[in-house]
Amino acid sequence: MTFASLGLSPALAQACAEAGFHVPSPIQVEAIPPLLRGQDLLGLAPTGSGKTAAYVLPLLQRLLAGRQRAFRRVRVLVLVPTRELAAQVGDVILRLDPPSDRRLKIAVVHGGVSVNPQMLHLRGGADIVVATPGRLLDLLDRNALRLDALEVLVLDEADRLLDLGFAAERERVLAALPARRQNLLFSATFPEDVQALADALLHEAVRVEAASQVEAVPEIEQRTIAVDAPRRTELLRHLVEQGSWRRVLVFVATRYATEHVAHKLASRGVQAAPLHGEMSQSQRTRVLQDFREGALDVLVTTDLAARGIDVPGLDVVVNYDLPRSTDDYVHRIGRTARAGARGVALSFVSAGTEAHMRLIEKRQDVRLAREQVAGFEPVEVELPAPADAGTGGIKGRRPSKKDKLRAAAAKARDEGSQGSGA
Ligand code: AMP
Repeated sequence: MTFASLGLSPALAQACAEAGFHVPSPIQVEAIPPLLRGQDLLGLAPTGSGKTAAYVLPLLQRLLAGRQRAFRRVRVLVLVPTRELAAQVGDVILRLDPPSDRRLKIAVVHGGVSVNPQMLHLRGGADIVVATPGRLLDLLDRNALRLDALEVLVLDEADRLLDLGFAAERERVLAALPARRQNLLFSATFPEDVQALADALLHEAVRVEAASQVEAVPEIEQRTIAVDAPRRTELLRHLVEQGSWRRVLVFVATRYATEHVAHKLASRGVQAAPLHGEMSQSQRTRVLQDFREGALDVLVTTDLAARGIDVPGLDVVVNYDLPRSTDDYVHRIGRTARAGARGVALSFVSAGTEAHMRLIEKRQDVRLAREQVAGFEPVEVELPAPADAGTGGIKGRRPSKKDKLRAAAAKARDEGSQGSGA
């Protein structure tokens, strides 16, 4: 299977080869032909499946063959949930835009940076605008762009768009669009609100599905390590040093934890930095750049801030805190082993999170051994199930010092009596 055999022009097939894409990924095989025919499309595809190029390539072919852009008019709008993803989609477009007499005009617009240069850039219209919803509405309110001649609308990571409040903004965006247009909706998961969005937007859509990342990239080695929660940072440092890990993405639960963990690692000589949503755009860009270029070994982040980050050659993804949902777990571990490379996903499991890890495993139909690292063996015990609650401990509560002493004394008694009986 080649890109040309999917109906792409020789120039675009050549651009793919130059980008290092030698064979189309499964989602590209399925999505490119119907998109070239102008059909609506519903893509169930996680990041890492090659979905961006799956829609960018047909868009480029259409734009290069179509009419010229007009004053303030936008021909293709790609809506994305985060600034990082906006920048990344913009990069993919620039990378795949083949050299030709007609250069396409691409505008990437998102919040966190000054609006004026964006307004100026849009004056002559744009072939493709990649935008986050808030900034798009801001630009519409300022009359900086017009969507009434839009040919194609793409909603990328629609589940995250909705999580971030896009439902409220949706009507305003849709009201600005012409009735006749091509619609593409991509989402990693398919909850009810995404279904409702698809129903409202799509007409006779082709449905394509990329296998979930875990299946699509079996090269991800999933591992779990049992460790007491207070010793996780120390263990992380130990593993980074021992394994000489050079590109580690660490997920924690809160913005505060990103800073706390990164700071602790840095104070022990590890090149680590936090990445979270409260940082300015320039700070975020710099940290990501440092991480990509290898000036940083460890990036400590949250699910939201990590959305859309594409760092090639990630050694390890570490779940320092477990994600709340299985979807997030799949999304996180898919950050390693991207585009076929091999990767490791490591989760720290402690007494308090054991039950949650089992739930994640169950949903994925896997059972992972709890490894232990010498010197970091856990001493906290898992809480007893309610059935044998008579031994003390309340579900959801960590055992107190007294509980542990009692348990240790009981164990010593048991062992002692066994010994004397033998
Ligand atoms: P995406 O799912 O769009 O975030 O893409 C994930 C990664 O796969 C990106 O780093 C792309 O550059 C890369 N990629 C996309 N399509 C291909 C392909 N056909 N062959 C190799 N790599 C690809």
